[in-house]
Amino acid sequence: MNIDSITNGFVIDHITAGRGMRIYELLGLDSLDCSVAIIKNVASKKLGKKDIIKIDADIEMDFDVIGYIDPGITINIIRDCKRVEKLTVNPPEKLINVIKCKNPRCITSTEQEINHIFKLTNKEKVEYRCLYCETKAQ
Ligand code: ZN
Repeated sequence: MNIDSITNGFVIDHITAGRGMRIYELLGLDSLDCSVAIIKNVASKKLGKKDIIKIDADIEMDFDVIGYIDPGITINIIRDCKRVEKLTVNPPEKLINVIKCKNPRCITSTEQEINHIFKLTNKEKVEYRCLYCETKAQ
């Protein structure tokens, strides 16, 4: 893998093709000043096709968000242009204020003070449901 464009930062690899943009949005990467690259539909032996995100900055990485979107992802930590660590993620038991419940009758839709909490209800399918109304996360 070509990591020579990153000095200090992250290479998020083995993203299921098509999910790169969702990770970009949920991690809030659009608000960063540093260079961020999304490479889509890269040929992969393991996945057929995959997306890769490169972030050239030492940001605070939200592993819960990544584990929720795609537990098959590998996160490479880059220091001085070298990979110093390779991490895998697990789907978190709870997601707090990452996604919102789509149910208009849910208490989180009417009460603004309440945290949006989803719990992992099926580990194999990585299925999450709203803690309050049990609506499935999309
Ligand atoms: Zn709900």
